[in-house]
Amino acid sequence: MSTSTTLLDLAAPLWRKHLTSTYPIYKYGMAALCALALATSAQGAAPQVKTQAPGFYRMMLGDFEVTALFDGVLDFNPKELLTHTTHAQVDELLHRSFEGDKVPTSVNAYLINTGDKLVLIDTGAGETFGPGLNKLQSNLKLAGYQPEQVDMVLITHMHPDHLGGLFLEGKRMFPNAIVYAGKADAAFWLNEAEMNKVPTEKQKFFHDAQSSMNPYVQAGKFKPILGDTQLAPGITAVDAHGHTPGHTIYAVESKGQKLMLWGDLVHVAAVQFPEPQVTIEFDVDSNLAAVQRKKAYVEAAKGRYLVGSAHLPFPGLGHLRAARKGYEWVPVDYLP
Ligand SMILES: [Zn+2]
Ligand SMILES: [Zn+2]
Repeated sequence: MSTSTTLLDLAAPLWRKHLTSTYPIYKYGMAALCALALATSAQGAAPQVKTQAPGFYRMMLGDFEVTALFDGVLDFNPKELLTHTTHAQVDELLHRSFEGDKVPTSVNAYLINTGDKLVLIDTGAGETFGPGLNKLQSNLKLAGYQPEQVDMVLITHMHPDHLGGLFLEGKRMFPNAIVYAGKADAAFWLNEAEMNKVPTEKQKFFHDAQSSMNPYVQAGKFKPILGDTQLAPGITAVDAHGHTPGHTIYAVESKGQKLMLWGDLVHVAAVQFPEPQVTIEFDVDSNLAAVQRKKAYVEAAKGRYLVGSAHLPFPGLGHLRAARKGYEWVPVDYLP
């Protein structure tokens, strides 16, 4: 009896539950137990693995290697967060896309190896958004790179889910990189006077921006971007302010192929592709944010170039096409 019990205790909980609840096994000796065990394993009692593939996706863009890096997921409640819309419209569009009230929303960053420079666009949330995120460092390493190799970090805007990965555990996570971001974002988020204009409960984003950016500013490793600027061969900053005062998107071009990295031009695919005028609570200037989104949609559909977006389902890479109403997203195919 004690031997049987010990074996059962060592077995997988599911197997144990199945055996103890279904069969009167204690009546039988070791032989019956072994026979049952063999029968169970022959029927496929392999333990469930439950882990996902490593969080990176890789493709070539001309001569450039592009690696999408997964930082994790945030739960978004579009009904609470979206503005310039109604609950009924959001409900209908979420239902149409098989989404419920809570939409698991990816946080993506992009690593470009031009052959000359290693360029990271956004850094994930770090520790600013709880336990579902901060996977960028491990996915960067799984993708075959080390943070010390990164030459340039391009920040789309200074919200914590884009720059929280810059400074962790008391150190600059990209010690050899120059960090670039829109000058108007620095003037807003790193400015005590601007911070003091908003109520205390809304100051967290300012604190997060300052604790992530200031170590680079103090080390002389920050370069503000003013307007459309080429930063390296094939890498250009493009002003797209609205979501934040210095929101910047980045064009990556090699051998006639183009990828635009959109930052926060779109948060909720199910709603904001068919209805580009729908905005989000985090927009500093929501009217301007909607204008920039529509402009980017028109250009991407017309130019037929590739788009990478921080909050579209990982890897967040694909194309945009005009639909009967609004736009449709066409994700890239998975290729070896
Ligand atoms: Zn944002
Ligand atoms: Zn964001």
